[in-house]
Amino acid sequence: MKKSTTHELLARRFQVMGQHSPVFYEQPLHLVRGEGVWLYDKQGRRYLDVYNNVPHVGHCHPHVVETLNKQASQLNIHSRYLNDNVVEYLERLTASFDDSLSMAMLTCTGSEANELALRMARHATNAQGVIVTDFAYHGNTESVAEIGTGFMPEAKRTKRVKAFAIPDSYRGLAGVKHEELAQAYAAQVRTAVDEFEDAGIKVAAILVCPDFANEGLLNVPAGFLEEAVAVVRKAGGLFIADEVQAGFGRTGKHMWAHQAYGVTPDIVTLGKPMGNGHPLAGVVARPDLVENFSKQAMYFNTFAGTPVSSAVGMAVLDVLANENLQQNAISIGDYVIKGLKRLQSKFELIGDVRGLGMFFALELVLDRKTKLPAIHQAKRLINIMREKGVLISTIGVTDSILKLRPPMPFNETHANLLLETLDASFEQLIEEGH
Ligand code: PMP
Repeated sequence: MKKSTTHELLARRFQVMGQHSPVFYEQPLHLVRGEGVWLYDKQGRRYLDVYNNVPHVGHCHPHVVETLNKQASQLNIHSRYLNDNVVEYLERLTASFDDSLSMAMLTCTGSEANELALRMARHATNAQGVIVTDFAYHGNTESVAEIGTGFMPEAKRTKRVKAFAIPDSYRGLAGVKHEELAQAYAAQVRTAVDEFEDAGIKVAAILVCPDFANEGLLNVPAGFLEEAVAVVRKAGGLFIADEVQAGFGRTGKHMWAHQAYGVTPDIVTLGKPMGNGHPLAGVVARPDLVENFSKQAMYFNTFAGTPVSSAVGMAVLDVLANENLQQNAISIGDYVIKGLKRLQSKFELIGDVRGLGMFFALELVLDRKTKLPAIHQAKRLINIMREKGVLISTIGVTDSILKLRPPMPFNETHANLLLETLDASFEQLIEEGH
């Protein structure tokens, strides 16, 4: 294998992957090893990972790695043969959902899962219209890019997608009282339905991430989602919950983020943390939807639902339970939020602190009254944090919200390091004159 310095590797990467393939940080990280919540670079320096949710139970967790190794050396085959693993895995997985969501189909990526969910919903409703937020990202296939209102060109061209304003209690809607926000956002969903109907397009689904994670991990006005789903269902559409980021116990109180709401989805999509880095994703849905869809559109996915993938999926569920990681998301989540609130009282720049279990957002603003986004400060801050050895990133419409989403075995010692480093980084930001 050709070895390069970090600088040379970046140049080779540009040559072979193009200038625009995204890479984190002004000084990109050249990583060689991961363990638990730690990542190690080529020079042997370790970084606290407060960003990655794919290594859900920790980077290179020994139980997951051993399970993968063992099954890979015994049998790996596609799902058109009988094998215990896939059946047992899906039985275990679906048991964590509402009784109405009792069937599953596997894919290899979150994009494929959303693609399949859209096909299933359009098939069941004989309709095309899909309603999403106005800053959505749900993946990279063509019909999923169409619902990517955040930055996908396909979303601008399509007629079969309509968007409503992100349901954000921090920023709200101009002229709307706080207690009326839920109704006001839901009214936008009603408008989307009406506009579809005026254009002769029927509504197939509303598709949202229940954490509104890419939108900025929003505090959703209470009652909004229930009302929005009721509007869509009345028009004949389904509710698809995208749990690709939100799922697998990250919110602490629930295994699935949608379970915090008073409404059960018709279809749920899963991904990222599902295989702890192994490409494992899928759809969980009502059995009538799965049966009616697969009766007419034979669904097969070569690499999905193999004995290896299924064994890995089960190993992730084992670790989640054995290491009490969902409970950990509640207790450490509370601990981190308290620390972040202390930082908020120290630094004017922190306009809002939000958290859901082991997932946190700090919204940076230039002024707490006008809430003007502190875009440059957020960008600089994540780079200062990286220099100090803690990895975070940004989200939201203007990329001014710090996104903190560590692997689930994040403990109090890690939390203290995160909080101290944030404190020192905000201090440095001020010293630099931002
Ligand atoms: N849905 C959401 C909410 C996501 O955040 C992502 C990935 N960022 C996806 C779907 C797509 O998943 P994948 O990259 O595995 O295709």
